[in-house]
Amino acid sequence: MWDWDPASDLVSVSARWADLAGHDGRSIAREAWFERVHPDDVAALRRLLSEVHTGQRERGEEAVRQRLPDGSWRRMVCSATRATDGAFVGGSLSDETELRSVRSRLQEEILTDPLTGLPRRELFLDRLNLALDRFALRGGLPVCVLYVDLDRFHKVNDSLGSVAGDGVLAQLAHRMEAPLRLGDTLARLEGDKFVFLFDGVRGQREALRLAKEIDRALSAPVRVEDVEIYATAAIGAALSRPDSTGEGLLRESTAAMHRVKEGEGVGFALFDPALNDRERDRMLLEANLYQAIERNEFLLHYQPVVSFETGRLSSFEALLRWRHPERGMVSPDQFIPIAEENGLILRIGEWVLDEACRQMKDWQNRIPASADISVAVNLSARQFEEPALVERIAECLERSALQSRSLKLEMTESVVMARTQENAGVLQELRDLGVRLLIDDFGTGYSSLSSLHSFPLDSLKIDRSFVNRMEFEDDKAEIVNTILSLAGTLGMDVVAEGVETAAQLSMLRELGCQHGQGWLFSKAVDHEAASSWIEAGPRW
Ligand code: C2E
Ligand code: CA
Ligand code: CA
Repeated sequence: MWDWDPASDLVSVSARWADLAGHDGRSIAREAWFERVHPDDVAALRRLLSEVHTGQRERGEEAVRQRLPDGSWRRMVCSATRATDGAFVGGSLSDETELRSVRSRLQEEILTDPLTGLPRRELFLDRLNLALDRFALRGGLPVCVLYVDLDRFHKVNDSLGSVAGDGVLAQLAHRMEAPLRLGDTLARLEGDKFVFLFDGVRGQREALRLAKEIDRALSAPVRVEDVEIYATAAIGAALSRPDSTGEGLLRESTAAMHRVKEGEGVGFALFDPALNDRERDRMLLEANLYQAIERNEFLLHYQPVVSFETGRLSSFEALLRWRHPERGMVSPDQFIPIAEENGLILRIGEWVLDEACRQMKDWQNRIPASADISVAVNLSARQFEEPALVERIAECLERSALQSRSLKLEMTESVVMARTQENAGVLQELRDLGVRLLIDDFGTGYSSLSSLHSFPLDSLKIDRSFVNRMEFEDDKAEIVNTILSLAGTLGMDVVAEGVETAAQLSMLRELGCQHGQGWLFSKAVDHEAASSWIEAGPRW
C-alpha cells in the first residue's frame, strides 16, 4: 500500500511496500520511488498519478516494472484511487503474477459463495486485512466488523426443506446489501452466518445505527411457498484498534454475537475489549476450532466396553480428542458445546464417523479377532436434526466399506425424544441400514419410560451418575435395577457407564447387567493400545 501526498510530494508506504523495495522507513520522496521504476514505465505511472490526482479519472491501474533490492525487475500492477476529500492519492502495488492467479481463482468462484454471490471467508479476510492496513497507515476512522447470525434458521430448513431454505437465505443476503457503501463488504461465512466490513465508522453509535439498518432489512417477511418467514438475527460488532488483525476482529465480533445469543443485549452487542477471561477464552477456542479439521488436530481415542459374560472386549466407544497446538489435549466437554452452537459439529461429526469407520475396517482387515467387535460413535443433537443424516451415514459406510452392523450410534434421550414423530422415522431408517442404536446417558433426561418402546433401539447406556452412587444410595441402585428390567422387557441390552470399582462391578453383575465401560476396565486409549485390547483374551 502507498499514499502520495501531492502537497509534500512524499509517499507514505506500508511495511510490505518498504520490504519489497528494500527501502528503510515508511516514507519516500516520489522521485525516489520513480527511480526504482523501469525508465520505460515511469511516464505512464506519472500520468496515472496526476490524472487521478486532478480528478480526470476516479481510479486507474498501470503495469510497471519495479526494481527489487537484488537489482532484478519485478512486474507489478500499480493501482491508484483518489481519497474522498481529494487531498491525496492512495494505492497499492501488487505482484502481477500473484494478482493474475488471485483473479483467475476468483473467476473459479472459489472465493465467492455460489448461492448468494457474496464473498466467502477467505476473500473477506483479505479485504479486511487490506482495510486494517489502510487504517494503520492513514489513521482516520476505524473499521467495523458486524457479525450477523440468523436466529433458529435451521428450523426453516427442517420445516421447508433445504431448497426453500436456500431461497430464503439468498433473498435475505440480497436485502442485507442495502446498507453497503462503496468499499464495504458483505460476506457469507457459512450457513446462516454473514459478516459485514464497514470501512470507516465513526464509533459505537454509527455501529449501532448500521446494526439497526441490517435488522430492519431482515425484518420484512420473506415469502416462500405461501409461508411468511420473519427473520431475526443476533448481531455482534467490533471496532478496530491500531493493533487489530483481521482474524482478531472477526473473533471479537463473533464473541459479541454470542453475548446476544446468550441473552445479554437485545439483538445487538458491541465487543468490549475488557471481556472477562472466560468469554475471551471461549472466543479464542472457537476461533481455533474453525481450522482444527484442516490442520489435522482431531483424533479419536477408543474406550473398551467389556462383556460381563465373557470378560472380553465387546465394542469400543470412539471419543473425540483435540490436540490443540498450544493447549495440548482439549476435552470434548470444552469444545463440543461450542461446535454445536456454531454448527461446526456437522463437519466435525462427519470427520468422526469417517475416522471411526476407517479405523474399524482397518482392524477387521488386520486382526481376525475384531470380526465381532463394533465401534460406537456419538451423535449430537445438531447432527440428528440434519435432514441428510441417514444419507450421510450410508455414504460414510460406503467410503470405508465397513459393514453397517459394525457401527453403533449413541444419542442422548433428549435428542431421541424431541420431535418424536420425525425421530422415530429417522431411527427406523438408520435401523434399516443395519446400524445399531444406543441411548446415551440414560436416566438423566426426562423421557417417559413408557414411550421408549415406540423407538427402534438396541441398547441403553446407564449414566455414570447412577453407577457411581449406587453403592451408597439405595435409590440409585433401585433406578439401575428398574432400567435393567425395563430394558429386558423391551429386548434391549444395557451398558453401565463409568464403572470405577470392583464393588460396582459385582453389584452390576448381580443385577444382571451385561456390559460395562469405565476406568476400572480402561480409560479411552489411542488406536494402538486399542489394537492390543482386540488381540487380548479375556481380561475380566
Ligand atoms: P459420553 O458420551 O458420556 O462419553 C463418556 C465420557 O465418560 C468420556 O469422557 C469418558 O472418557 C468418560 N468416562 C469413561 N469412563 C469413565 C469412568 O469410569 N469414570 C469417569 N469419571 N468418566 C469416565 P470424554 O471423552 O471427556 O467425553 C465427554 C463427552 O463428550 C462424551 O460423553 C460425549 O458426550 C462428548 N463426545 C465425545 N466424543 C464425541 C464425538 O465424537 N461426538 C460428539 N457429538 N460428542 C462427543
Ligand atoms: Ca457416549
Ligand atoms: Ca455417556
